[in-house]
Amino acid sequence: MNVETRPSADQFAVDDASFREQLAYLLERSAFYREKLAAVEPVGLADIAELPLTDKQELRATCTRENPFGAHLCAEPSELVRIYSTSGTTGTPSYVPLTASDLENWITGSARSYAASGISAGQRIVSTYNAGPFVAGAALGAFERLGLIHIPFGTGNSERLVQAIAQLQPQAVVLTPSYAAHLAERNPDLAASSVERVLVAGEPGGGEPAFRAKLEAGWGAKVTEAMGIGDIGVSLWGECEEQDGMHLGARGFVHAELIDPDTGDALELDDGAAGELVLTHLQHRAAPLLRFRTRDHVRVRTGLCSCGRTSPRVRCVGRTDDMLIVRGVNVFPSAVREVVSSFGPEVSGHILVKPQAPGVKQEPPLPVAVELAAGRAADDALAEAIREKLRDVLVVQTRVDLVPSGTLRRSEYKSTLVERER
Ligand SMILES: [Zn+2]
Repeated sequence: MNVETRPSADQFAVDDASFREQLAYLLERSAFYREKLAAVEPVGLADIAELPLTDKQELRATCTRENPFGAHLCAEPSELVRIYSTSGTTGTPSYVPLTASDLENWITGSARSYAASGISAGQRIVSTYNAGPFVAGAALGAFERLGLIHIPFGTGNSERLVQAIAQLQPQAVVLTPSYAAHLAERNPDLAASSVERVLVAGEPGGGEPAFRAKLEAGWGAKVTEAMGIGDIGVSLWGECEEQDGMHLGARGFVHAELIDPDTGDALELDDGAAGELVLTHLQHRAAPLLRFRTRDHVRVRTGLCSCGRTSPRVRCVGRTDDMLIVRGVNVFPSAVREVVSSFGPEVSGHILVKPQAPGVKQEPPLPVAVELAAGRAADDALAEAIREKLRDVLVVQTRVDLVPSGTLRRSEYKSTLVERER
């Protein structure tokens, strides 16, 4: 049976067997996990929440000159076929080694995630990742696997990109939501181009309704998103044509859990649940991770999807690294952008949150620069309406400063929605 449509209970039984083997493998080969799990009994997948969480800092602390990957490395150097870097929003890069079977599974999962969007063999797809050392490079292998005609394009030359779209007539493009928005804003002709599908990945935001509606209008195309996490796998999740969140394309390779980000307590993966995504490798060999904290905050959908895929769906709300706490309330900049974007023709959709204090905790009001649409003039009533809506929807007190069209920086890769005072 196809792994994507297998009933969840059947998949759980398969994953439970994989997990028990993975755990035994970790205890045999991983110095990091042997130490971390010394005091606990091995369990099955149903009791995985009894095992400790793993976070990035812990792994990083075990890196040495002799072992730059960290003490969780399980494979012999001769077993590795590739080493990627993660760019790391928090600073220094870390290295992600893969064996041949790890890479194979990454590409298989990624191919399922991208195929969910409806792209099919023989179609042309333009990619805009300057993948280089980064894990996104493995996703490019997925396009080949799907039989797509892959047209690699980096960022940095938007004019040539738009020209290539006009001349080569691709059916799909894959890029960050920020770059998709930037291109559509600068090139109104894209709405009438050959592109039918815009696949966005690399940062949260592609699933926010108002932002997505703007992308779909700008490109005259259907927008779906994909999401991965460097240490676990590339494009693990991919959205289907129903556009109701991303299915787990890496099903069978990765187990997903939800936790309360503040307490670390496990949460049920129920419909509508929200929390931090925690992922566990099930069949990994080089440097498998157990209950890894992704720092991605997601909302879960578990109802039947008419595409037939039975895995749960997630929508990424934001990342811990971007989150601010304003008088006890968690605020994600991407959520601020979504509320502001609902002011449609009055604003451009670009925002910049400007925290006044160092660190995460902020005193209200939180300053937010909101860019006006072209030809619109600032008016107090609009600023007040945005401020009120932010308060109603996000329960946060802000100070809204309207700024002229074109004054906030555009990005060809990932957007910076927060600006720190120097
Ligand atoms: Zn679906």
